[in-house]
Amino acid sequence: MVILKTPLEIDAMKEAGCLSAKALRIVGEAVKPGVSTLELDELAEEVIRQEGGIPAFKGYGGFPATICASVNDEVVHGIPSSKTILKAGDIISIDTGAIVDGWVGDNAQTFPVGKISPEKARLLEVTEKSMWAGIGAARVNNHLGDIGFAIQSVAEAAGFSVVREYTGHGIGRDMHESPNVFNFGRKHAGLLLCEGMVLAIEPMVNMGKRKVRTMSDGWLVCTRDGKPSAHFERTVAITAEGPVVLTQE
Ligand code: MG
Repeated sequence: MVILKTPLEIDAMKEAGCLSAKALRIVGEAVKPGVSTLELDELAEEVIRQEGGIPAFKGYGGFPATICASVNDEVVHGIPSSKTILKAGDIISIDTGAIVDGWVGDNAQTFPVGKISPEKARLLEVTEKSMWAGIGAARVNNHLGDIGFAIQSVAEAAGFSVVREYTGHGIGRDMHESPNVFNFGRKHAGLLLCEGMVLAIEPMVNMGKRKVRTMSDGWLVCTRDGKPSAHFERTVAITAEGPVVLTQE
């Protein structure tokens, strides 16, 4: 069941969105060669708790950290570690969320570590562009398939592929609500979008083939071909005036 939000509830969700965006920005600014993903995780938790928020991921389904930190061929759900030290030329996908007044915000971004190859830079650009195309399709009277179609079109036109095993999602008082928001699809297919839906739109785009595998810790997802992957996410409300990004400062 899709839980629709009133305009007042959407306003309340902006608080959680704002803090999620702030944590992501500050952690992104701390990304540099020599930093461990555990240090980034501690920073995110500090930012969220300082403002009275609760890290949305910590303890969720047993996940042990405030951020997911996924480097290079790691797609999503990487567990931060003192042993994972960033080096120049890496890309790191950071996903984080905060709970404020019982509402959840969720956002992600892939950051360059130092100077990266033009190919990786293009992967980041295209993945972000595909996310904005998906957000642009999150409009009243469009269908869920229009979001997926928009994302897939941008990613595949650039010669990249879209991960299919993981999706965006409805979000509200729970981090994962109905519906699943696929990053591929057909125009005018699927659920009719309406005012009050709040969706986390989050393409995962691979430089190579789309296939992924889950690693032995049960969390980390990597590309099968070992090529890099990028991930961008925003929490978006569908309103009469169009899509409104809630995860912004
Ligand atoms: Mg999400």
